[in-house]
Amino acid sequence: MPRRIYILDTSAVIAGFVPGLADVEQVTVQEVLDEARDLCSKLELETAVVAGKVAVAEPSRSAMAEVSKKVGQTGDRISETDAKLLALALDLRQAGDEPKLVTDDYSIQNLARLFGISYRRVAMPGISEVLTWEMVCPACGRVYRATISQCEACGSSLVRRPRR
Ligand SMILES: [Zn+2]
Repeated sequence: MPRRIYILDTSAVIAGFVPGLADVEQVTVQEVLDEARDLCSKLELETAVVAGKVAVAEPSRSAMAEVSKKVGQTGDRISETDAKLLALALDLRQAGDEPKLVTDDYSIQNLARLFGISYRRVAMPGISEVLTWEMVCPACGRVYRATISQCEACGSSLVRRPRR
């Protein structure tokens, strides 16, 4: 039987996906850990990694090349982190596993569709109707109420999270 594996992106961690609790294997890349670490509140992810509940993996160079090539053809821009998550999904699929990206980030959802990789959102549909959202910069922590995609201070790609 193929292993079911969740691949966690930063938006999943920010949106409150509890790492290591789902009944499937979970993996992420170092860049997500770095981004989550900047948010201070996401020690939970590090704890899960230390406890061996979430693995940290590095995608193969060939999968990274495949992602760059295909994304380049679409004209989309993609962060290094997102490219690595997609490449990791390709590696896992190649190995016969069933990877699923856990993300609330629309741009990576679109790219996952492009590669035929399945994904799930963190926010439950019933909840997203009553929550309002804000955009947060994973690099510098600035918060924006407007739906913009890039941090005006440092240029990082923003991620969406429920407004607190
Ligand atoms: Zn920023």
